[in-house]
Formats: sequence, structure tokens, C-alpha cells
Amino acid sequence: MYDVSAIRADFPILAREVNGKPLTYLDNGASAQKPRAVIEAVTRAYESEYANVHRGLHFLSNLATDKYEAVRGTIARFLGAKDEHEIVFTTGTTEGINLVSYGWAAPRLEAGDEIVLSVMEHHANIVPWHFLRERQGVVLKWVEPEPDGSLPAEKVIEAIGPRTRLVAVTHMSNVLGTVVDVAAICKAAREKGVATLVDGSQAAVHMPVDVEAIGADFYAITGHKLYGPSGSGAIHIRKSRMAEMRPFMGGGDMIREVGREAVSYTDPPMKFEAGTPGIVATIGLGAALDYMMTLGMENIAAHEARIRDYAREKLFGLNWLTVQGDAPGKGAIFSFTLQGAGHAHDISTVLDKRGVAVRAGHHCAQPLMEHLGVTATCRASFGLYNTEPEVDRLISALELCHDLFA
Ligand code: PLP
Repeated sequence: MYDVSAIRADFPILAREVNGKPLTYLDNGASAQKPRAVIEAVTRAYESEYANVHRGLHFLSNLATDKYEAVRGTIARFLGAKDEHEIVFTTGTTEGINLVSYGWAAPRLEAGDEIVLSVMEHHANIVPWHFLRERQGVVLKWVEPEPDGSLPAEKVIEAIGPRTRLVAVTHMSNVLGTVVDVAAICKAAREKGVATLVDGSQAAVHMPVDVEAIGADFYAITGHKLYGPSGSGAIHIRKSRMAEMRPFMGGGDMIREVGREAVSYTDPPMKFEAGTPGIVATIGLGAALDYMMTLGMENIAAHEARIRDYAREKLFGLNWLTVQGDAPGKGAIFSFTLQGAGHAHDISTVLDKRGVAVRAGHHCAQPLMEHLGVTATCRASFGLYNTEPEVDRLISALELCHDLFA
């Protein structure tokens, strides 16, 4: 049974008050809170198991290396990857996508080659492709979501043309909660010989992910949204694509030999992990994924579906609220504005006074904001520890906003 009260007790921060009110944390889309298992793993690593990894021939270095490297296997299990050597540690999705942009795309895309991406991408899955547009004349081809916020796979597939080299799409929108059928997109792209990158930053938090079934060449995740430390993350890269990539950053740990005239590199995945990594952050991410897998991703998804349905009914019941996007099967992420009154920032400030933490702004998705015809929204994004009474607190705080601003 999914015991949400027991789960909440695992997250010390959820017991605190904010502005004299119980914390109602609905900003999980930006970053999630950490369970005690993660906090303890990080503390233990620093208190008694810390040294630099890979280099030392001493006890603590070997211990830290074992703990750190074990996380590769944990991430592979979490993502359903068949080979842990296909997991590259990163500091988050932003680094993962930049690695693909610099390491795979930049050396092979030419002027006029196309990258297909959706209008609802996060800037992390836009700006690295703009670099290629600016520097190499690569063309960005945009696919618009439907009025309900859904992004049909066929629309993305239809956009693939003879010059398309890469399709880069999100698995779940961080603004609308829309879930995209990335498996269908990856299958069609593969049949056309086109590479695929999936931004799994949001999806991996809320649903079971199987990278083998999805079939993307690159699947990026970010640790801090997965209840792990900030500065942790990973990207799953298919072996055949790894072989095509040149390193993105150069430094220690990623070399075989360095001379005055030449350098040779170690094998992937470490070839793509230059310098001292985020040792403890990665160890913390391992603890976070173990925690999620113990709860069960199916169970987390089922709990969040209940919260989504409850929140959806309540939010759509407020006839003075505009909720953006209502795609079938969406995740528990709601973006909204108050009709004709109150900037998103003002609304979030009022909610904060009631202890309700939401995000306000463009959510690093300016092309989507433009598409929706808004400059900013408020976003309530739910996680594995949220409850129906917290939805009620959000609703009553919004009613207060309506009274203040209408
Ligand atoms: N992609 C999506 C869909 C996101 O929601 C985010 C974070 O907000 C990112 C990418 C960037 O992740 P990070 O900043 O952790 O690298």
C-alpha cells in the first residue's frame, strides 16, 4: 500500500512551516525535496567515506570509487538500460544535452541540416541547438502542440525531412505536464536513419521509464528533480552513438595518454566525464533512485494520477482561472493564470504567504509561452509526497488571490 503519511515522514523539510503556515510544496517541477535516505547517504559519504575517485590506491579512494561507480548500475536499472556502460554521469540534463550538442552533433551536422524539436521544449533542449544554428547554419524545425497541449507523435514524425539529422523532444512538458509518445517518434526516426534525443527530466520523476523500449539514442535525466542532490544527473547513450562522439570537455580522468604532441582517450563512458566529478552528489542520486524504486515507479505514478485527477477537477472548477493544457494522460503539472488580474508573480507571492510554494514565470520555456500567448504562468507541480489536502490548500489560497485581484 502507498502510505503517503509515512512517505512524508521520510522528508524532514515537509514538517517545517513557511510564513507561519504548514509548507505545501508544489514546486517539484523545478526541484524536489530530499528524503532522509539521500541526506544520510550524502552525510555518510562526507563523514566517513570521502576521497577522490578513480585515482588513489588507498582504502578511502577505493571505497569512494566503489560507491560512486555503483550508481551507474543503479541508474541503468532505474532506466531499464541493459548496459551500465551506456550511462554517462552529468551534472544534470543541461550538461547531458550540451554533451550531445558538442560531442555528437557539432562534428557531423552541416549548414542546412535540420533538427526537429517541439515548441514546448525547456531552454536546455533549445539553446544548445541554437548554438549549432548560429555557428554552423543548422536549421531548427519547430513542431507546435495542439490546442489541448498534446503533441501527437505523427506531427513530429511528419516534420522529419530528408535533411533532418536529429529529433530532440521532451518526454513530459515541464509547463503543461503533457506526456509525449517518444517511443513512436524514436521508432519512426530510427527507420529513417535519424538520431533521437529525449529530455527525460520530468518524465523519469513521475513514471516508469524503459530506455530500451523507448529506443532513443540519447535519454537525459537530472538528479535534483529525482529527489537527489543538485549537480547530479546522467544521460543514457546508445553504444553505437557513443562510438560516434568526440569528447566534449577535456581534462583528467578521460584520457589514456597525454603527450606533448598527442592525446588519446579512455573508453566511454569515462571518455565523456572529464575532471573530478560530483562524487557525493552522484552517490546521493543513487540513494534517491533506490528510494524511488523501493516505493515502486508504478505506485508513484498511480498516486500522482490520483492527485492529478483531484487537482484537475478542482482547478477546472474555478471559472476565473485559465489552466493551460489538458492533454489526455498528462502528468500532475498545472500552469495557470488568473483571468484579467494579477501577474503570475503576484499570485505566487500571495500563495507563498499561505505556505504554498509554486513557481511563477516563463519556466525556461519562452517559445511555449509565446505559443500560448502569455508572458508568464503560475505552475503547481506535484510529487510523490503530495496529498489531496494540499490541493485544497492551493485552491483556498487561489480563492484568496481571486478576492484580492479580481
Ligand atoms: N528539461 C526539462 C523538461 C526541465 O524541466 C528542466 C529543469 O527545469 C531541464 C531540462 C533542465 O534541467 P537542469 O537544469 O537540471 O539541467
